[in-house]
Amino acid sequence: MSTPFRRKALIIGYGIAGPVAAMFFKRAGIDTVIYEAQDTYQDHPGMFMGLGPNGVNILKTLGVDAAILKYGFPTTGTSFYNSSGKLLGEIKTHPEIEGEDESNIIIKLSALQTALFDAMLDYDVPVEFGKRLIGIKATKYKTVIATFADGTEDEGDILVGCEGIHSRTRQIMLPHGPKPSYTGTMECGGVSFNPAVYPTATMNIIYGKQAYFGYFATPSGDIYWFSNFSQAKEPSKAELRAMSQNELRKKLLDLYRNDVPYLGEIIKTTKGEIGKFPLYELPVVPKWHKGPLCIAGDATHAVSPHVGHGASLAMEDAIVLAKCLRDIPDVESAFEMYEKLRKQRTQKIVSLAQHLSKSKTTSNPLAAWYRDISLPSYLERSAELMDWIYSYQVNWDEEVVARPSRYGKMFKAASRTMKHPLRTGARRPI
Ligand SMILES: Cc1cc2nc3c(=O)[nH]c(=O)nc-3n(C[C@H](O)[C@H](O)[C@H](O)COP(=O)(O)OP(=O)(O)OC[C@H]3O[C@@H](n4cnc5c(N)ncnc54)[C@H](O)[C@@H]3O)c2cc1C
Repeated sequence: MSTPFRRKALIIGYGIAGPVAAMFFKRAGIDTVIYEAQDTYQDHPGMFMGLGPNGVNILKTLGVDAAILKYGFPTTGTSFYNSSGKLLGEIKTHPEIEGEDESNIIIKLSALQTALFDAMLDYDVPVEFGKRLIGIKATKYKTVIATFADGTEDEGDILVGCEGIHSRTRQIMLPHGPKPSYTGTMECGGVSFNPAVYPTATMNIIYGKQAYFGYFATPSGDIYWFSNFSQAKEPSKAELRAMSQNELRKKLLDLYRNDVPYLGEIIKTTKGEIGKFPLYELPVVPKWHKGPLCIAGDATHAVSPHVGHGASLAMEDAIVLAKCLRDIPDVESAFEMYEKLRKQRTQKIVSLAQHLSKSKTTSNPLAAWYRDISLPSYLERSAELMDWIYSYQVNWDEEVVARPSRYGKMFKAASRTMKHPLRTGARRPI
């Protein structure tokens, strides 16, 4: 058990929120251990992600940015095309943010996790793989005991559930709380090798007639691609496993048969496995903490990939939570402040992602025509409209100041400098 002077945190899940939180906890002087259900962090076929400047800045604070640039690729924006390959418009990354060329990165999930794992060796954070959390017990000393499927246990002063959308910690904390539901959309993704596709340093999005397609061509000739398509019935794990790669390729080729031909070419030249991901959403989680328990990342606010921002939000949660624990001695007050600082922003982004998911595909020719003519003017304004997402910055060195509100119980004021956390336009250090 930990001493009264040094706290011990159990972090559950080695996804993105888990390792980032663990490193910031160590910086905050909290002993930390991560427990992960899988036997290792593994390759996730077809799973790559776009990190925005708000996420990349947090990796810079941790000193992981060089590794991210080694494995990832900077992007300069996104180009949108209709099903016949006509360019509809572009979004450029944000020139007002310093280091523009390195502030938006495309990276494979496994490469990001490798970079974080290497960094954790420097931070001396142990990771225990093959440990699936099944239960949590409170003790009379106000500590917490985590129990794992292999029969082992560990005790800490706090436990942070970073197990993603199907979080066990959230289920235990809020047994009658919200549950994830299938969105009716599947995502598939893979890596092709096709030097005929010219690398452009932009993400390319194509509104196909039946499904949505995105790809990024790297300078080496590798193409990271994904497809989103509707599938009313949620596939079970067994059905996902049973679907052969050949069947999947055929299905995807069929979905894009009436679109610009290079989509089919990209799918056909896929190396290795095509990943399959049913997409889920989570209603608002009313409470993010209880006693010594707290949740972060997708466990609290699963942002569908439609806005491509869940990883950056998971990192934002991690650093803000560590700052609150560093600066507010009482654990529950620190958790309260963390929830207060994060909830409004994350829910706004979740709602935006839900809205964007509806505009991705349409089989109605009139709706597609309207989308094609209205998209350019929307894209022109979108850099400004989305600025509040990307320009959010968390300054590790700035103190989180908690002061009692006039009601005595709640805490007010995010920090010395953040007065209007959601006002657009300005940089918001917290
Ligand atoms: C197909 C797809 C594409 C995406 N694209 C993007 C993108 O482009 N940009 C972006 O920012 N985001 C993207 N996202 C979202 C992003 O992946 C998530 O928001 C992010 O991974 C959340 O991180 P997390 O640490 O909260 O959870 P996760 O990454 O889900 O990690 C949770 C970890 O907890 C472990 N775990 C689960 N249960 C237990 C248990 N009981 N005990 C112990 N360990 C457990 C899991 O094995 C896992 O390793 C995408 C998501 C999907 C599905």
